Amino acid sequence: MSLTTEILYGKPVSLQLRQELKNEISNLSNLGIIPGLAVVLVGEDAASQVYVRSKSRAFKKMACFSETFNLPENTSETELCLLIDELNASSKFHGILVQLPLPAHLDSKKITRRILSRKDVDGFHPLNVGLLLEGQPQFISCTPHGILKLMAYYGIKTNGKHAVIVGRSNIVGKPMFALLAEKMEYGNSTVTICHTGTVDLSRYTSMADILIVASGMPGLITGNMISEGVHIIDVGINRIKDNSEKGYRLVGDVDYESILGIAGSITPVPGGVGPLTITMLLYNTVLAAKNIRP
Ligand code: NAD
Repeated sequence: MSLTTEILYGKPVSLQLRQELKNEISNLSNLGIIPGLAVVLVGEDAASQVYVRSKSRAFKKMACFSETFNLPENTSETELCLLIDELNASSKFHGILVQLPLPAHLDSKKITRRILSRKDVDGFHPLNVGLLLEGQPQFISCTPHGILKLMAYYGIKTNGKHAVIVGRSNIVGKPMFALLAEKMEYGNSTVTICHTGTVDLSRYTSMADILIVASGMPGLITGNMISEGVHIIDVGINRIKDNSEKGYRLVGDVDYESILGIAGSITPVPGGVGPLTITMLLYNTVLAAKNIRP
């Protein structure tokens, strides 16, 4: 017998979180503090340009300040580091984000480390990664943090469950592992992390109570790889060329049609995890602004 798969939209979760943030932003504003974010974009990557525009729109809507620094593709490491040093020293910016991926000649790890850890609102600096692993996070990477908020909103319990993560990136997979394994209300799961070295992926995905997929491989997870009732978080955002006006459509890493009627719930792409990532960036920037309050 097939069940009804619940669709876990990100928008209501995001709206609720933004409402809570509005109060914090207004308290800061009363003290003369406007949370400010510097976004650094190097080169012409089309998807990155879309993300950066959405981020700056969201900041404007929430009465926060953001400024985008567009640098040419051939920017040298020294030039980029000089800009980061200036942004580190500026009191206008509480958060700094360097949009990834960077052009191949730039070392993203080195650049990430250049940002002051107290302005690292992406949560990628080694100090912030270490604090997360220690169970004392300061800035949590936005996408995994948003996923926890989404599961909390929809009442998806993680305590004692088997969570399977597909993908071991520093941005999603690894921080997601750290959060879900932590002894806390929306953690305390038994966590399996799968990647390109995993032999027989479906052996693990079929044992999941919660399946988080961040592989960048459209349609990687199909209905025959999951168990009935599993909660699926589809993080993937993949552009598939088509004949539409835009010339492409967005799909996730999960073959949506084949899991309907088997999974207990799934986040759609677009409209699932995506809206939360930007909201958690706002959240981290507000946190950074609160931290400098005298
Ligand atoms: P990535 O692209 O850096 O790496 C992909 C990971 O998936 C690797 O760890 C790899 O080992 C694993 N993988 C790839 N193919 C696999 C396979 N066949 N079997 C098992 N594992 C496999 O990862 P990322 O930066 O986390 O991005 C993943 C996807 O999530 C991309 O589509 C990206 O656009 C999307 N993403 C979305 C958001 C959002 O806000 N919704 C945020 C970040 C990333």
